[in-house]
Amino acid sequence: MAAFLPTMRVAAILLAAGQGRRFSAQTASPVAKQYLTLGGRPVIRHAADALIPHVQILQPVGERASLDGALSGLRTAGDATADGCTILDCVPGGETRQESVRAGLEALDRLPETQKPDLVLIHDGARPYVPAEVTRAVIDALSAHAGAIPGVPVADTIKRVRDGVITDTVPRTDLYRAQTPQGFRFGLLRDLHRGAAASDATDDAALLETAGHHVAMVAGSEDNIKLTYKEDLVRLERLIGPTLLPRTGLGYDVHAFAEGRPLILCGITVPHTRGLAGHSDADVGIHALCDAIYGALAEGDIGRHFPPSQNEWKDADSARFLVHAGERIRARGGMLINADLTLICERPKIGPHAQAMRERLADLLQVGVDRISVKATTSERLGFTGREEGIACTAAVSVLVP
Ligand code: MG
Repeated sequence: MAAFLPTMRVAAILLAAGQGRRFSAQTASPVAKQYLTLGGRPVIRHAADALIPHVQILQPVGERASLDGALSGLRTAGDATADGCTILDCVPGGETRQESVRAGLEALDRLPETQKPDLVLIHDGARPYVPAEVTRAVIDALSAHAGAIPGVPVADTIKRVRDGVITDTVPRTDLYRAQTPQGFRFGLLRDLHRGAAASDATDDAALLETAGHHVAMVAGSEDNIKLTYKEDLVRLERLIGPTLLPRTGLGYDVHAFAEGRPLILCGITVPHTRGLAGHSDADVGIHALCDAIYGALAEGDIGRHFPPSQNEWKDADSARFLVHAGERIRARGGMLINADLTLICERPKIGPHAQAMRERLADLLQVGVDRISVKATTSERLGFTGREEGIACTAAVSVLVP
């Protein structure tokens, strides 16, 4: 078998032509199910990502604009992905699943002789979560069989029902639910699809069965879910992760200068003649940043979480406020994309301390320093900051939240 696999060219036909009528009827979704976003990527993109490591050619079948969008960025060099899988231009699908498979097979058959695949996998674009071992088992089984498909044993008792009444209990001992990717010798499947029986088959394995070829059943996976009903989306979100949406927050804070206090800005002590007045340590930078984060989460402001009326927070190290804000993002299952702070003052000069401030804020938020920006401006000697009566700070953040 080891000698068999490396010499074989494997192509995958990725089917995206289905309308998903059961799913649309149930959810009233204007988006076809294979293009829904799951864990930040379209369903069909997950399917493509799962197949690509196992094949040398990927042939998408479906509507061009949607497919090109969903698969954009996969090609890194010419037509190929980073790991050398050639992604062919998509071809339009047909009225039925079998017509769409046929369209994919004919497109592969138009490749120059040296590039034609030996083996072909047919995969539903609405099955985003294919464990690698399932795809490997299908390809491996093709060394001994003309076709191979993954399946899982039927666990439930099966009843035949007529007019709402059970007429029969079907023995389930050797019943399996068929999944994809289904794998075949390319030339054989192409020829069977060109034959008369093709339109009657419910899947590609059935074509081979009817023609008397052996089709192997290999172990599928209960996680290899076909998105068919609304409940499937909930199960897939548990496997792949929820859909994260971007949210933005703005914060603004001001503190007046005061004699005899250290100047704490963005979590570090900055040498200066005066500090800032306030109930806590008056870190105007961290306060603005906390408010931006609470704002993005729509969880009020810093005063709601740490009321100045409580003596507990007198002269408090504002670092703990920011740690709390960061914890709130994680508790919501989200992540900080970036934060951008602007300190507004004539003095002290912020530039020499900006890098230390970025590092401190990133540390408190448990994110990379590249996500945090600290910059400063003067107000051209205008207004209270211009008269050096105090320091102001603005902050903008973006977060991703389920
Ligand atoms: Mg404040």
